[in-house]
Amino acid sequence: MVTISNDSSVKDNRRVYSPISLRGTDCKINSQVSLAGLTSFRVGGPAEWYVAPRSMEALQASFAWAHDEGVPVTLLGAGSNLLVSDRGLSGLVVGTRYLKQVNFNAETGQLTAGAGESIPRLAWLAAKRGWKGLEWAVGIPGTVGGAVVMNAGAHRGCTADILVNARVLSPGGKVEILTPQELEYRYRTSVLQGGDRLVTEATFQLQPGFDRSQVMAETNDHFSQRRTTQPYHLPSCGSVFRNPGPKTAGWFIEQAGLKGYQIGGAQVAQRHANFILNCGSATANDIFQVIRHVQQQVEQRWSLLLEPEVRILGEFPF
Ligand SMILES: Cc1cc2nc3c(=O)[nH]c(=O)nc-3n(C[C@H](O)[C@H](O)[C@H](O)COP(=O)(O)OP(=O)(O)OC[C@H]3O[C@@H](n4cnc5c(N)ncnc54)[C@H](O)[C@@H]3O)c2cc1C
Repeated sequence: MVTISNDSSVKDNRRVYSPISLRGTDCKINSQVSLAGLTSFRVGGPAEWYVAPRSMEALQASFAWAHDEGVPVTLLGAGSNLLVSDRGLSGLVVGTRYLKQVNFNAETGQLTAGAGESIPRLAWLAAKRGWKGLEWAVGIPGTVGGAVVMNAGAHRGCTADILVNARVLSPGGKVEILTPQELEYRYRTSVLQGGDRLVTEATFQLQPGFDRSQVMAETNDHFSQRRTTQPYHLPSCGSVFRNPGPKTAGWFIEQAGLKGYQIGGAQVAQRHANFILNCGSATANDIFQVIRHVQQQVEQRWSLLLEPEVRILGEFPF
C-alpha cells in the first residue's frame, strides 16, 4: 500500500482563469499551471492554482487567499522529491523558488538562507569560502525548505546535524522559530512533513576558517562520486524508497531482479536500483505502477513493505 500524502480531490472543472492579482503585492495567482516542469520527475498534471511569492507579504497574502477561497495548500520547493498525479492537484500550490537570500555570518559561522535557495549552490558557496559542514549536500538537487522538511542527507551528513533553527510560517500568519528538537528529526523526515506550515528561512551552523582548496576538493569528491554511482542523466526523484536497514532498499530491489523493470516510460535504473527513471515518455501513473510492483515483489519475498521516501501527491488509480 502506497501512502497518498495529499488527499485533495481534483475538481472536474479544468477551467483556465485569468491571473488573480493579490492586493498590495506584486504577486499573481495563476490557474492550471503544469507541475511537470516544476518537478524533477518531469511528470504530473496541473496545479489548479499556483503562486510563487517573492516576499513575506506576498506569502501571507497567498495563504489568506487560499483560506478565503477554502482551498487546500500544497508546498513546493524544487520538486525533487515529489510524484504528482497526472490529474494534477486541486487547490493552491505555493512555490518557494523566489524566496531567496543568503547571509554568511563570519563571526558566528552561521549561514542563513531563504527557503528557495538551492542546497547544492549553498554547498559550493560555503566550500569556496573554506567553510566546512555542507560538503555532503552538493548532490541533493533541492531547496533549503525541502532539506529542512525532509531532513535531507547524504555521505553520512544530514540537515539535522547542522540546523540551528528554521523560521516557519503557518497559514494563519503565525511565525515560529523551530529548533531541531522541535522539528522532531528522524531519518528523512520531520514534524513538518505533509503539513501546511511553510519554512521561509533556515540557519545552519558551519565551520569557517578551513583551507578553501581542501573543502572544495571534498565537496568535489562527493559530487563526482554521485555522478558515477547514480543516474543523473534522466529525470528522477533520487532514491524512491527509504532504506529499511540494515540492508538498503536498493539491495532488496536488485536481489528481486528488478533492475531494468519497466512500465511505459518508467524504469528501475540499472545503475542504482532505488532510482526510478523517466526514460522520456513516462506518466506519473507509470512511475506509480513501478513503485507498487517493486513493493509487491519485495514484500512477497521478504515480507518487507518498502516505504516510499518520495512524496506522492494527488489521486492515483489502485
Ligand atoms: C537526482 C536526485 C538525487 C537525490 N539525492 C538525495 C540524497 O542524496 N539525499 C536526500 O535526502 N535526498 C535526495 N534527493 C531527494 C530530494 O532532492 C530531497 O528530498 C530534497 O530535500 C527535496 O527538496 P525540494 O526543495 O526539492 O522539496 P520538494 O520535493 O519540492 O518537497 C519535498 C517535501 O517538502 C515540502 N516542502 C518543500 N519546501 C517546503 C517549504 N519551504 N516549507 C515547508 N514544506 C516544504 C513539500 O511539501 C514536500 O512535502 C534526490 C533527488 C534527486 C532528483
